[in-house]
Amino acid sequence: MNLHEYQAKEIFKNYGIPVPDGIIAATPEEAEQAAIKLGDGITVVKAQVHAGGRGKAGGVKLAKTPEEAKKHASSMFGNRLITHQTDAKGLPINLVYVEKGSAIDKEFYLSMVIDRTSERLVIMASAAGGMDIEEVAETSPEKICTAIVDPAVGISGYHIRSIGNALDLTNAQVKELGKLLGNLYRLFNDCDASLLEINPLILTKSGEIVALDGKINIEDNALYRQPKLVAYRDVTQEDENEIEAAKHDLNYVSLDGNIACMVNGAGLAMATMDLIQLKGGKPANFLDVGGGATAQRVAEAFKIILSNKKVEAVLVNIFGGIVRCDLIAEGIIAAVQEVGVSIPVVVRLEGTNVEKGRELLVKSRLSIVAATDLTKAAEQAIQLAKGNAA
Ligand code: ADP
Ligand code: MG
Repeated sequence: MNLHEYQAKEIFKNYGIPVPDGIIAATPEEAEQAAIKLGDGITVVKAQVHAGGRGKAGGVKLAKTPEEAKKHASSMFGNRLITHQTDAKGLPINLVYVEKGSAIDKEFYLSMVIDRTSERLVIMASAAGGMDIEEVAETSPEKICTAIVDPAVGISGYHIRSIGNALDLTNAQVKELGKLLGNLYRLFNDCDASLLEINPLILTKSGEIVALDGKINIEDNALYRQPKLVAYRDVTQEDENEIEAAKHDLNYVSLDGNIACMVNGAGLAMATMDLIQLKGGKPANFLDVGGGATAQRVAEAFKIILSNKKVEAVLVNIFGGIVRCDLIAEGIIAAVQEVGVSIPVVVRLEGTNVEKGRELLVKSRLSIVAATDLTKAAEQAIQLAKGNAA
């Protein structure tokens, strides 16, 4: 689960991590009042969406007066912000955060993330902050300092010194950095975070270290024990299809391609997507219908898949281990009839009663292609999608 910047900063404050003063606003008038309350000087109006890259996309604007803050806010509300991290539709702006302007001397990058290879928390820091860290990682990886934290020991002096060195900090600033890293580490563990990113972490003109942006991702599997954080959830920022899928216990992630996949089992779903890609196609989604692929779940899955207008063919790949292939075939036929699927559907079944299952598909007289092996199934789906697009 993602948090908004203003929520991340609320948590930062609770953990003693310095952030600029700020007030959340849901209307242009509230934004104006917020700017008045924040007092003299420049304020910054920041669109609250679950994506970075807002600055370059017009989602972060400086205001010299409260009237200007109001004007910026009204230009944002009701619109969708499209950044390089969103899809082409962008994300709706329902809230803006009005923040006191900081006098920036330097912008750094700082993040904490779980590295699954070393099974440890990794801290990444760079003096090249404020910009796209992916670009820095690609063009000048030597500018990124990484420190791996042993969970039995926590953050040590040498972590702090090496990061302080990479950021070219003075001794007094390194001390502050040490406090900040300790607090962030505590926050990361307490909140069951999977990612925490501050870009930029700034050095102000008066030499203080302040978090100017904040991104926190919470591990979904830990949400059951994080009731306070669950309350921060903003479904307006989430994919509608993914929310709908979750209601039916389907694991769905929408992607950019045109070939929809319906598979039972996450591993098989990944393999199916890989194969589509390998054969020159592009998957439109990841979808795991789970072990018990009943007719009803298959029908729900079809509805979700087909609501994506980019889909030009469906590839169903189901292994009948727990459920029998003939039952799955019946489920698919019922679902195709119920939902009224008009695009090509290629079905690859394997497992118990597979012959019976294929026979049912062939006899159904629906435009379902019963494939005999997975490679062929992927090729057929790609071919049919092309024909459908033409
Ligand atoms: P994003 O990463 O989505 O573009 P940021 O919060 O990082 O959004 O803001 C983008 C840039 O805007 C920052 O790198 C910084 O230069 C400037 N900025 C953001 N907040 C403030 C602030 N409170 N005072 C001064 N400048 C700011
Ligand atoms: Mg940022």
